Amino acid sequence: MTTSPVNLLDLAPADARAALLVAFAEFGQPSYRADQVLRRLWVNPAPDFDAMTELPAALRVKLVERFILPRLTLAIRQSSTDGTEKFLFTLADGQSIETVAIPDGDRMTFCVSSQAGCALACAFCATGAMGFQRNLAVHEIAGQVRELALLDPPVKATNIVFMGMGEPMMNWKAVSPTLTILNSSDGFGIGARHITVSTVGVLPGIIALGERPEQFRLAISIHAPNDTLRQQLMPVNTKYPLAEVIAAAAAFDRRVTFEYVMLGGVNDRRAHATELASRARACKAFVNLIPLHPGGGLGFDPTARDSIHQFANWIRDEGVEVAIRRSRGLDISAACGQLRVEKIGRRRELTTT
Ligand code: SF4
Repeated sequence: MTTSPVNLLDLAPADARAALLVAFAEFGQPSYRADQVLRRLWVNPAPDFDAMTELPAALRVKLVERFILPRLTLAIRQSSTDGTEKFLFTLADGQSIETVAIPDGDRMTFCVSSQAGCALACAFCATGAMGFQRNLAVHEIAGQVRELALLDPPVKATNIVFMGMGEPMMNWKAVSPTLTILNSSDGFGIGARHITVSTVGVLPGIIALGERPEQFRLAISIHAPNDTLRQQLMPVNTKYPLAEVIAAAAAFDRRVTFEYVMLGGVNDRRAHATELASRARACKAFVNLIPLHPGGGLGFDPTARDSIHQFANWIRDEGVEVAIRRSRGLDISAACGQLRVEKIGRRRELTTT
């Protein structure tokens, strides 16, 4: 009976190690060999088994028969004048996903995707406009970090935010083991406090993240301080109304951040600031104001810079901590889903002319 090869990159490090130990026992090889391979998955990644030259050649052949290490294909790499880089990867079935690498002093934050497309159709979001394609597998989420570490010279993450394409809590089955890979010393070894999962407020996911023993961070995309407006901007609010999301955030025993995209004339008035501050106080949240990426807002206008500062002051006056996120990568379409939309758009243009 032939069994299909095991994808080591879909497994949390402890499970990968267990699978390798079984194989090496069958090969009649010492167990330290399993740890040698384990290190080449994430810690010091190898592009394939052939590159693991610390192993005897005959053993590498056996590993190829037993295991696979699927790669993501880098289709586009764009670099911004501010150092931000955006990567478009093509997956085995032709789907495209994006990853953004944002340098800031000695930090390098990767914004990773968890789904191809997204089903939640937020009114201002380019990814939402393209609809849901499918969930990503573990090796496709963690693989974004691995692929950048495999570049020459490597681009290595110190911080991770799940703010790329998709809603991570709708793909918790793959996101949870990915968190283990990112954080584990047998994985990328990134501190849990440096890994943020961002959600529109999918309650089961918030609870599941809170149950993890590590100090992973939670960010909630609020974007509107009351149900009436939020429902218009974010259809998911019907299923998870604001009061329930705030209650789940209050029950989450670590610091929570509110993400709030500033939409000119829509959610940026004084009354919105007061309401938002009261929601934030209810769960001791820190508020992050996000300037809308020009051209990324699907018919929405960015709030003027001065007005964003005014809005921040109103919130601060209510006793809530607030920051304005710096816009990065403005010249390389670094808004969520934008590069993929542009590529698909170009392809459509080509096929219709
Ligand atoms: S903002 Fe996030 S949850 Fe909403 S449509 Fe875009 S990717 Fe999906």
